[in-house]
This record gives sequence, structure tokens and C-alpha cells, in this order.
Amino acid sequence: MRQPVDRQSDDQLVVARWQGGPEIFASFQGEGRHAGQPCVFLRLSRCNLYCVWCDTDYTWNWVGTPFVHRRDQEPGYRKYDPVEETVRMPAAAVAETLRRFPQRHLVITGGEPLLQQAGLTALLGALAGESWFVEVETNGTIVPVPQLDRWISQYNVSPKLENSQVPLRLRYRPDVIDAFAANPKADFKFVAESEADLEEVDRLVEQHRIARDRVWIMPQAMTPKELSAGKAKLAQPVARRGYHLGDRLHVALFGAKRGV
Ligand code: SF4
Repeated sequence: MRQPVDRQSDDQLVVARWQGGPEIFASFQGEGRHAGQPCVFLRLSRCNLYCVWCDTDYTWNWVGTPFVHRRDQEPGYRKYDPVEETVRMPAAAVAETLRRFPQRHLVITGGEPLLQQAGLTALLGALAGESWFVEVETNGTIVPVPQLDRWISQYNVSPKLENSQVPLRLRYRPDVIDAFAANPKADFKFVAESEADLEEVDRLVEQHRIARDRVWIMPQAMTPKELSAGKAKLAQPVARRGYHLGDRLHVALFGAKRGV
């Protein structure tokens, strides 16, 4: 089942709501090629997938949807109300908020940011000429349109594996992976739990001719302890394959907290 999508004007963005306002915050890039870089995060709401271990389920796991999440068994866990969890903002207002931060390294994350390409094009057009380095985190199921692509400095493409429990027909779009493989601005990140996951990565890398030095493997983890154990478990198999062993700096420093 796909997520319901309501109408949205072209110069608007649906941003995750946090502490009464948009989830825009300064931190360090936690993953991939620019891990450790000071940056500003913009977290958009909505996703077209529903990974069972997703740590930003407040962007898509809406009341009334049938999606399963591994937190379902936790006492008190409830699906989210999209009205409470989102804030609609004109792109110009998002740009104004971003300019209040001293950093000029922007990481656009979600949810799935490429569901909102018109709003993002308006946002990045408004920031043009201000020397922003712009990274986009994406799940690799949607190709960016050229009008948006020209503003993007770096894509972190994270195709979902079987461990996400999302059906293959939704999470795997070969044409989209090919488009990102051909885009020199794209790196690939995979969330892995086991050697079987790495074998799935190997098949994708070979099938789409992705250079191994563009691949980061990150352990599935929501706590520093899980992260540390996952890295220790995956280190040797990742090294044998010539991939990067990716960190998740925000998890190591802050665990599952928001706005960090
Ligand atoms: S694609 Fe990303 S944001 Fe969407 S459900 Fe999966 S992990 Fe969460």
C-alpha cells in the first residue's frame, strides 16, 4: 500500500514538526562521505516506503495506515497524527530559517525528500548564489528532475534491502539505481545487519556497476551499543569487499534523539 498524498502547492514544503516548529537544526553530518562535517539539517515529512526499523517513523507511520514497525510491541507506541507531525511552509520561509544558521552545508533528509521536488527546487533556487553545499538523502526510488539536480552537490542514495521488510516492487527501482549510478554526485549507503545483507549489496553493486569506493555500509542501530556491536560484526566482511564501513555519528553521540 502506498502512503496517501494530499495536495501541496509547488512552492511549499511539508516539513517534520519538532518542538512546535520545523525540524531544522544544526548538527554534524553523521553518515557517509561528509561524516563529521558541521551542517544544518532540514527534515521533510512523508515517505513512499515503510521500513520496519525506520528511526524517523514520525514522518510516515500515520494513524489509519497498516504499516508494521518494530516498535509496535513497545508499551505506549502509537502511530502518528500527520497534522501534529508536519508543518507546511513556503519555500521562501524555509530558506529564511536556514539562513539564520552560520553553516552553509545543508543536509536535506526525511522521510523521502524527493517526493517534494517542486518545493525543493523553489527552496534551492532561493538559496542560489549563497555558496551552499547541498546534500540530499534519498531511498533510491525516485529520480531527481534536472531543475532540482542542478542545485544538488551530493546525493546519499540508500536503497533498502530485504531487511527493511518492504516489498521488492516498491523498494527496488532498477532504472532509478542506474540513473544514480551514472550520476557522479551520488554515493550509495546500505543499512546492513548480516553477511546475507552484504551479499544482497554485492548483487546490486555488480548489476548496476557501482564502483565499490562509492559504497558505504552502515549497521542497523538505534543505540550506541547496537552501533558499536554492528560495526564490529560487519568490519571484516565489509573490508573483504572493499566497501567503506560507515559510521552513524548521531547515533553514537546521541542515540535515538531528535533534533541532533
Ligand atoms: S526509506 Fe528511509 S524514511 Fe522511508 S521508511 Fe525507509 S528508512 Fe524510513
